[in-house]
Amino acid sequence: MAFESLTERLQQAMGKLRKKGKVTEADVKEMMREIRLALLEADVNLQVVKEFTKSVRERAVGTEVLESLSPAQQIVKIVNEELTKTLGEETVGITKSPKIPTVIMMVGLQGAGKTTFAGKLANYLKKNENARPLMIAGDVYRPAAIDQLKVLGQQLDVPVFEMGTEVSPVEIVRQGMELAREKKNDYVLIDTAGRLHIDEVLMTELKEIKEIAEPNEILLVVDAMTGQDAVNVADSFNQQLGITGVVITKLDGDTRGGAALSIRQVTGAPIKFTGTGEKLTDLEVFHPDRMASRILGMGDMMTLIEKAQQEYDEKQAEELARKMKENSFDFNDFIEQMDQVNNMGPIEDLIKMIPGMSQIPGIENVKVDPKQIARQKAIVLSMTKAERENPDLLNPSRRRRIAAGSGNSVVEVNRFIKQFKESQKMMQQMSKGSMPAGMDQMFG
Ligand code: GDP
Repeated sequence: MAFESLTERLQQAMGKLRKKGKVTEADVKEMMREIRLALLEADVNLQVVKEFTKSVRERAVGTEVLESLSPAQQIVKIVNEELTKTLGEETVGITKSPKIPTVIMMVGLQGAGKTTFAGKLANYLKKNENARPLMIAGDVYRPAAIDQLKVLGQQLDVPVFEMGTEVSPVEIVRQGMELAREKKNDYVLIDTAGRLHIDEVLMTELKEIKEIAEPNEILLVVDAMTGQDAVNVADSFNQQLGITGVVITKLDGDTRGGAALSIRQVTGAPIKFTGTGEKLTDLEVFHPDRMASRILGMGDMMTLIEKAQQEYDEKQAEELARKMKENSFDFNDFIEQMDQVNNMGPIEDLIKMIPGMSQIPGIENVKVDPKQIARQKAIVLSMTKAERENPDLLNPSRRRRIAAGSGNSVVEVNRFIKQFKESQKMMQQMSKGSMPAGMDQMFG
């Protein structure tokens, strides 16, 4: 996940102050020097770093902070607020047209993730607004782009308008818009071509499409992995086309995250979404305050809750709570839970969204081995229906059969069943309102 080392460095810089009873101006200066270095190392644009540190310093050396009872906490608060400001302050959603269709045009360099984002956005609009989008395949240069969009459309049951690669994109968009009006689609998502670098021909084409489609949104898709280059690209697209928002993709990768921190300041265009993986559901609405809190290692419970809500409906949640309380959570539930949690993204990332977790030593080394999960699933799948519903049936001979059937050793099967029973107990305790031993200290 992006920002890992930045989070660590910022926490170190601010942690030093926490240990001090009284904070002096020199302490603040020292901290600012470290924050500045941390940001530069994370590849944040120099001008942005300068402005950010200037505002934090000005507020932090104000007498009310230095003389307050908890200066370190005050400073964390200031850093958090200034970071939120840098990231854009407000959450900015899609601007809708007063009459349908709302037209959204995707632009950006080749490989940035435009086509993938078009699919993710169609999925998001369908799920959240019950929308009926139409996607237009306007990338006639990258050979596979049209097929890629068609496959996405099929997966999502969203129509894709295409005219192959021989017709000009401007004409494709013109006819696609006509179709959308005729079919009364509420959204039109236009996938356009990218190049490896910005060039005149491309810009002219995009300007023509803009004229024809009169988009409500021109979303620039940039790849977080390209660092400062993403900021430069955003700047020139903005100057030529006037973008209305930015989508930062590949924030799941091993990026330093500087682009995400700089783009808003440099272009003035708000970040609207982030891409956090290759799956269609790996899309997050961008909330500056939540992102700031995540960067500072303060967790992001809101996003965690929303992710869970996408996977569970209320009835399921009630059913689960009942099972936990009555201790009737069985292996079938276990498999179901495992699949749903898996859909929420890597467990390592979810853990970090819980406030305070990122400060637990060694947490960044927690890795959940997907093979281990697959092994456990194989064990459950080798059980009979009766065994899955009643773990008490699992006597030694049944365990031997399950081990052979799932390609595991009996020791592994025993260990898994023991773990399962322990977690059953823990769930029962938690559902009765008490924290299992040890966990209360973790959250204290
Ligand atoms: P386009 O040329 O701009 O249309 O780019 P594509 O949509 O074809 O994406 C290029 C590659 O990036 C594909 O392999 C995508 O699966 C991948 N990709 C797109 N968005 C993300 C993301 O948020 N995270 C990751 N890890 N990969 C992504």
